[in-house]
Amino acid sequence: MKGKLIIFSAPSGAGKTTIVRHLLQKGFDLEFSVSATSREPRPNEKHGKDYYFLSAEEFKKRVEANEFLEWEEVYKGTSYGTLKSEVERIRNEGKNVIFDVDVVGGLNIKKYYGDDALAVFVQPPSVEELRKRLTVRSTETEEKIAMRIAKAEHELRFASQFDVVLVNEDLGKAFIEAEKIISEFLST
Ligand code: 5GP
Repeated sequence: MKGKLIIFSAPSGAGKTTIVRHLLQKGFDLEFSVSATSREPRPNEKHGKDYYFLSAEEFKKRVEANEFLEWEEVYKGTSYGTLKSEVERIRNEGKNVIFDVDVVGGLNIKKYYGDDALAVFVQPPSVEELRKRLTVRSTETEEKIAMRIAKAEHELRFASQFDVVLVNEDLGKAFIEAEKIISEFLST
């Protein structure tokens, strides 16, 4: 039987990557879908583990070859996408797939896979809190943070289209809630 799909989407800084990492560490029967991106790697990020880092030209070539299940220019000049080959490889091994993608990408994957997929929206307690988290993380310049905040305000409007909304006010509680959601979905 082919594996199920669990999608985590959220505005940048809402904590979805931390929650996804936690679930992977917890030993759930899940494999991370490594996305492709045209952005530069951050220190500590590895090709093939965090992302497949492609040049803008290579990314475009793969779009034209129809290799993506979904892709988007998430930020101006920077594209991200899910390669069909990545998802099929994991599912063909009978494993469940977990995605960390932006809101529009998440809804596109959900639309494609229907009931085989569970779409989870991670909601930050407020836009102010999000700004604080992005500033503390300080992986981005001030201009990029402003760009991410503007996008987050827009993305928060999509929450109701997801199967589940997980409010991340307290990370410990969000971990427990996420574990419960995943256990239930995988056992049915
Ligand atoms: P970051 O640059 O912080 O790693 O990611 C920026 C945004 O791109 C995040 O919201 C992340 O979830 C999203 N993203 C990562 N991979 C994909 C993907 O394959 N497709 C889409 N649509 N968004 C992605």
